[in-house]
This record gives sequence, structure tokens and C-alpha cells, in this order.
Amino acid sequence: MKLTNLTGAAFLSCVLFAASCTALPTNEPVPAHHMSDGTFVNTDGKAINKPFTDLIRWQWTREEPDPVVFEVLQPDLKKIESPEENQITWIGHSTFLLQVSGINVLTDPHFSERASPFSFAGPKRVVESPLSISELPYIHAVVISHNHYDHLDEESIVALAQRIQDTPVVFYVPLGLKAWFDDLGVSNVRELDWWETESLSQFRVSAVPVRHWSARGMFDRNKTLWAGWMIDIGDFRFFHTGDSGYSKDFKDIAVRFPDIDLATIPIGAYDPRWFMKDAHMDPAEAVQVYQDLQAKKAIGMHWGTFILTDEEMTEPPKLLAQALEAQGLTAGEFAVMQHGELMLLPVSD
Ligand code: ZN
Ligand code: ZN
Repeated sequence: MKLTNLTGAAFLSCVLFAASCTALPTNEPVPAHHMSDGTFVNTDGKAINKPFTDLIRWQWTREEPDPVVFEVLQPDLKKIESPEENQITWIGHSTFLLQVSGINVLTDPHFSERASPFSFAGPKRVVESPLSISELPYIHAVVISHNHYDHLDEESIVALAQRIQDTPVVFYVPLGLKAWFDDLGVSNVRELDWWETESLSQFRVSAVPVRHWSARGMFDRNKTLWAGWMIDIGDFRFFHTGDSGYSKDFKDIAVRFPDIDLATIPIGAYDPRWFMKDAHMDPAEAVQVYQDLQAKKAIGMHWGTFILTDEEMTEPPKLLAQALEAQGLTAGEFAVMQHGELMLLPVSD
């Protein structure tokens, strides 16, 4: 079966009824990151759970950077609708549209005004989305890294799900997050634990560990899992990191998933380090992650769209350039895209 020959509905029914879900063998009856109280921890056995006093200390002392309205490129909708080559478009923050061999995948879709539980408060988009949901092509799969508001946006999920009648989409989410979709009445959700893989012919999706945490409210901390996503489409291997602090997880991921063609790696939301370091890497650590993954190419993400933390909005690409130079690497290897920019991807050898 050739993936490119599948209609949307056929893709969906294959995923739901014919997909195989496999976990790598483990000797432990309960995985080490599953706590008895139903919460999850990172692979080092620890939860990121800063005391409330630290949050207050940060909020009291912080100086919020000025908003910077970056230039937004208007994607060529014809190219998005009918790509002639493999390509990726940065929609902003951690949202990418990956288009490989006729399969379209959306990462952490966020198209709304705010990354917040409230419509009137919370981090506001400073850069317009270059694409609206109605302008998207058929989306085969959406991957969600975790439930923070800048990665799991209710308005965007509902809008994507409403296209289901015409263009059914499959949502891949980390363990524990399916119930959130159920509450919204969104179906076609596949929930994976770390190191689990779902495969359909030449399309494979695997959840892998990264170092982060989850919460959407006061009382749900770490009750749902967080994950990076490895996506194989034919010979093309794509990795979406989601949010993560630096950890040895990336070397472990590279052992199990060699030959990554392209990785999206966060480079923003890192200051102040005393508060953010556990959960968010800085650009120098992002370069280390790129090296640990042994990826052929990386794209920086998680910057320039919302003001979440204290670094200047223009700083992440500057520090990335310095970190790359220090390692003898180039922007061709670890790129930064403009909002709305479409990048053609090499065919894997
Ligand atoms: Zn997060
Ligand atoms: Zn985030």
C-alpha cells in the first residue's frame, strides 16, 4: 500500500483499525516513570515541581521583554496545497506543517490569540499566524507534545476536529491526555507512552521521553505525560522535541532512532536560568541536543511568537548563532526560519 494513494478517510480508518501499537520490551511490570499516585516523572526519576515561592520570586523580580513584531512571510498556498517536493513550514512557536511523500503532519498546533486558559489574559501572540486553520491542506496527523497552553490550544484543536467530516485527522497524544479530547468530543485520538510506536505501512509515530512536566490547572500537575515525537514517513525520519530541558534522553533517543533527517528543537523560553533550566534548554543546550541526536539538520522553534519568559525576543537566534560557531557548525545545519517560511527538504539517502 502506498501512502500517497490513500485518501483522507482511508488513512484514518487504516490508523484506527489496522495500525499496530508496539512497546519496546521492558522487564519492569510498571514503567519507572509511572508513579503509584497516577503522576509521571522524568527518566531521572524526578518530577519538575518548583515550589510556589519560586514562581512568586520570579514573577516579582522579572522584567518582561518588549514585544517584537517579526516579519511574517505569506506562504504560497498553492505550494502548501500541492507540494512538489518534501517541505516544512514554520507557522510559529512550536507549530510546523511537515509535508513529506504526500503525508501532512501538524505539530503542537496553535493558531489562537493567546497561550492561556483565559481569552482576556495570559501570553498574547505578538506575531500573527501566517496561516489560518481553514488555509491548511488536508492534515493526516497531529502530534501534541504536552498539555501546556502554548502547545495544546483548545480553540485550534476544536477547529481542526471540526474539519473531520471532510478531512478526518488523527491526533497523537502522550499518555493520559486522551480524556481531555474526549471531554471536548474530539475523536480519533491515539495515546502513546514513551517508547511506544504506532505504525501504518510506511508511516510510523513513536513517543519518546524528554525532560519536562505537565499541568493546565492548579491540581493536575504531571497527571498527563509529555513526550517528543519521532515520525517516520517512508525513509524520512523527523523528530519533534516539544519542550525539554537538556538531559541524557537525547543520546538514548539517538541509539534507538538513528539517522534522523530533521529535528525541530526549542531555542527559546530559557530565562531566568535558575527557574527555567530544568524544563527549558537554552540555545547552547539546543546545539548539544542536535549533536546528541546526531540529526542531519535541525530547525529552532519555541521562540519569537509569545512572550513566555525573560529573554529578549530577538535573543534566541543570536545565541544560537554563537553556539553554532563555537561548535564549528553552520546555520545550514541548525537553521532558524521566519514565520511563514517554507523550507524544501532534501530527499533522504
Ligand atoms: Zn511546556
Ligand atoms: Zn512551551
